[in-house]
Amino acid sequence: MQLYQSNQIKVYNSLTGQKEIFKPINEGHIGMYVCGPTVYSNVHLGNVRTFMSFDMVFRYLKHLGYKVRYVRNITDAGHLENDADIGEDKITKKARLEQIEPMEVVQRYTVDFHNVLRTFNFLPPSIEPTATGHIIEQIELISKIIENGFAYEVNGSVYFDVHKFDETNEYGKLSKRKLEDLIHNTRTLDGQSDKKNPQDFALWKKAEPQHIMRWPSPWSDGFPGWHLECTAMSTKYLGKQFDIHGGGMDLKFPHHECEIAQNEAAIGVSPVNYWMHANMLELNGQRMSKSTGNTVNPDELLSGNNSFFSKAYSPSVIRFFNAQSSYRSVLDLTDDGLLASEKGFYRLMDAVNLLDDLKASSASSIDVSAWKQKCYDAMNDDFNSPILIAHLFEAAKYINQVKEDSATLSSEDLDLLKETINSFVYDVLGLENNAKTDSGTDKLSGAVDVLIRLRQDARANKDFAMSDKIRDELAEVGIQLKDGKDGTTFSVN
Ligand SMILES: [Zn+2]
Repeated sequence: MQLYQSNQIKVYNSLTGQKEIFKPINEGHIGMYVCGPTVYSNVHLGNVRTFMSFDMVFRYLKHLGYKVRYVRNITDAGHLENDADIGEDKITKKARLEQIEPMEVVQRYTVDFHNVLRTFNFLPPSIEPTATGHIIEQIELISKIIENGFAYEVNGSVYFDVHKFDETNEYGKLSKRKLEDLIHNTRTLDGQSDKKNPQDFALWKKAEPQHIMRWPSPWSDGFPGWHLECTAMSTKYLGKQFDIHGGGMDLKFPHHECEIAQNEAAIGVSPVNYWMHANMLELNGQRMSKSTGNTVNPDELLSGNNSFFSKAYSPSVIRFFNAQSSYRSVLDLTDDGLLASEKGFYRLMDAVNLLDDLKASSASSIDVSAWKQKCYDAMNDDFNSPILIAHLFEAAKYINQVKEDSATLSSEDLDLLKETINSFVYDVLGLENNAKTDSGTDKLSGAVDVLIRLRQDARANKDFAMSDKIRDELAEVGIQLKDGKDGTTFSVN
């Protein structure tokens, strides 16, 4: 019996605007696609938040025993500076500015992306495909869309015919936009003269002579439109229809809207059962933006080397901070918020570190099973991590009560409490216990333990002068010993 059989998840589906009971297409298996980064610059902290939210979703689904195929792509071609299909390819532009090969740009920032995600303890996706690795699949998809009458070729470029599509299908259903409104609100931009209508979007662009990233196709030497790669790669690895498609809120339109249109036009089915969107990250109440200087990158946040925050924060504190808000809420990154999260994180970890010292009693005064169910109920309710964390703090209270003998746990309940806390803290929230993983701290604690044992020996031999000397000299270097009924503990000042 897998945990998912007794846990009914509800997911907020952006397509319907409702929380829906989650039912995978194939029992026990989940296909999940999340739009990855365009690797032309260091990864933005806002993107890290989006991927962190989906890392938690991935972790929880795996925890429930689902076999999850998680596909997160790397966009290494085709993403133009402007959503209206004009401007330079972002990667080509960076390559030109830095006078290196486009693939050097891709390599440099893919490595950076992976390093940052590893620092934040992300699980790697099951497949991480690239746009340039799937040009053939994208060309096939374009041919199908042309064959079905939803795209047209002009001067070597191919455009998706949004107006034609909207006659039989519903363009704008995800982002709740109507084509008539789009028509009124679209400015005609230079460079779009090939399109029948400004709302049409590029499936294939003929490359200008100076454009380095180019591939042969039936229409021209060129490159695929940005929206196309996700349709090609999601259906290749997850099938014509799959369970979850995620991404940042800013991708809902036009990117995800175009993905739906491409799938329906090529294959005739709506590709995704549950669309999930992670909300934006703000800095001190304002949108992060390079142009206004209101931005901080992951390295600066972790090193403390920035003008916004009073100190450096550890990756786990930042993960904890993120999980204290719903993935669907705007998250405001502030120094006060991070300081409060840091305090909370260490309070929780202090309690977790006490777990192994707790002594079992013959009966429990705490209903651990009911508490455990509340943790699952929180996550089953659209991955409500802030509520889960509230329950983990409740557990921290229990742990301290048992430690102080004002509550009791049977050995079964103690095991259940440990197992559940470990699952949620480490496996699901992906937090790391810094006190345990920091080898310097480990060694210090090992060395003090040796001195505590020598002092116990000295006392057993009635050598109180030696015992006091150990205690006093440790105090001089800032380590306080505390004798209690369960033995001696220490704290570092
Ligand atoms: Zn995408």
